[in-house]
Amino acid sequence: MELQEKVVLVTGSSRGIGLAVAQAFAQAGATVVLNARKPIAVEVMDQVAQYGHRVADISADVTDADSVKNLITKIYDQFGQLDVIVNNAGIVKDGLLNRMSTADFDAVIQTNLVGTFNVIRQALRPMYKQRSGCFINMASVIGLTGNIGQANYAASKAGIIGLTKSVAKEVALRGLRCNAIAPGMIDTQMTQALSPKMQEEILTQIPLKRLGQIQEVAQTAVFLAQNEYITGQTITVDGGLTMQ
Ligand code: NDP
Repeated sequence: MELQEKVVLVTGSSRGIGLAVAQAFAQAGATVVLNARKPIAVEVMDQVAQYGHRVADISADVTDADSVKNLITKIYDQFGQLDVIVNNAGIVKDGLLNRMSTADFDAVIQTNLVGTFNVIRQALRPMYKQRSGCFINMASVIGLTGNIGQANYAASKAGIIGLTKSVAKEVALRGLRCNAIAPGMIDTQMTQALSPKMQEEILTQIPLKRLGQIQEVAQTAVFLAQNEYITGQTITVDGGLTMQ
């Protein structure tokens, strides 16, 4: 897929991996719609606009189906098309099982898994009409391996992997594709907040002996959009952490 003339929505793109994904698509020539629950800061918009292509910001909460409906409607009103959606918005609320509240379990499932479903669900009808469209869902290696203190997060990300395969099968005949990315330990605010000891322990388990860069996840999203013969896959970007 040529990305010039394409419109790409990246949910949760006010910072971190989502912002890097938005920048990568803008650099590749696409029109990019940024999204978070609050309006995106002007400096952040500028980082995406620097490549000279159209950039928009539409606030929406992915946990709220009506808010998502409004987001998709606004994109079609403004641009008349939507070609790629990167479902990146995600949260963590870690805790050991015996201390994890139902509210914390539910909040993570609602944002990461139900949020992804909401966006796909609302975009399906117009994308079916277009007979084209590409979903890229941000999973995690934790959805493949599980992790102590992350039962809610692991369940949400494993759910995304199953959702991705089901969507891929269901939409293929209409010309749509759906894939997931499972990043490992990426150098973000989240990983920078870990203690030096914890960071060292993690590095011993990564064959490439370094954290991943947000740009390396972003490149994978662009690749999955461009390659039109890949669907239903989960691509790990993890320095070899989870190789079989
Ligand atoms: P950040 O916390 O830095 O960014 C999350 C983004 O999601 C923000 O823009 C946030 O904006 C937005 N967001 C959160 N909740 C909602 C919501 N309900 N509706 C719309 N937007 C929302 O996360 P990272 O960049 O670290 O991670 C991005 C994705 O990659 C997540 O899905 C995460 O699970 C996944 N991932 C990250 C890894 C890492 O090492 N960092 C590893 C593996 C996977 P706001 O709060 O303003 O709404």
